[in-house]
Amino acid sequence: MKVEVIGTGAIYTKYHSACTLIDEELMVDMPNGTLKQLLRNQYQPEKIRTILITHKHGDHMADLPFFLKYVQAYLYDMTNSKDEITIIGPKGIEEKVIQLFEAYSFESREEIQEGMKIKYIELEQEEQEIEVHNYEVQAWQVSHGEEKPAYGYVINQSVGCTGDSKLCDNVEKIVENSKITIADTSLIKGDNCHMGMNNIKYLTQKYKKPIIATHMRDKTRETLQKEENANILVVEDGYQFYV
Ligand SMILES: [Zn+2]
Ligand SMILES: [Zn+2]
Repeated sequence: MKVEVIGTGAIYTKYHSACTLIDEELMVDMPNGTLKQLLRNQYQPEKIRTILITHKHGDHMADLPFFLKYVQAYLYDMTNSKDEITIIGPKGIEEKVIQLFEAYSFESREEIQEGMKIKYIELEQEEQEIEVHNYEVQAWQVSHGEEKPAYGYVINQSVGCTGDSKLCDNVEKIVENSKITIADTSLIKGDNCHMGMNNIKYLTQKYKKPIIATHMRDKTRETLQKEENANILVVEDGYQFYV
């Protein structure tokens, strides 16, 4: 699989918010500004067929209406428009997408349902496996303070994405079940909502696998860059690798 870390930042940074593109067709999270970020960097958003949303905060899903409008406009121009977009996320994700369309004064509830080929899969369990567009997705419920439920994902038993979470058992499951994990490393020291450098050091030492730090605040990025930590990768937006 080709993995592209489109965004590695937190809300408060110049970096794009945390999101990842796999094989140019599966996206984990869709923060504000993602459509433009993809277009600026010569990606083809119309190829994306699957979107995994970790939780309903704006820096993880605010751009969904812009992305869906773009892709639907593109698909209408294509003769074969049988493809649908699948959105997987926590319970209530469909209602939240409709609310966003309404908030932005875009399509109404009825227009979205009539005109857009979107299939929603709302996660019901703490641990769930889904086959979607030839990908095997494991969803693990993680712990992101008051924002419930929040999920992390493992794609094809290779790439883990923790989403926003404190260090918890299911974050460890994500690392255990992946070859490489893209992990929330917002803070120097983890709290009840986000992991910190201390948690990521613990995970790399325990599981001896590489972790790409994401969702980093500037202070965390600077501190990580100064240190030499085996197996912790601090990368720029757009970093690519194959797994
Ligand atoms: Zn969040
Ligand atoms: Zn976030």
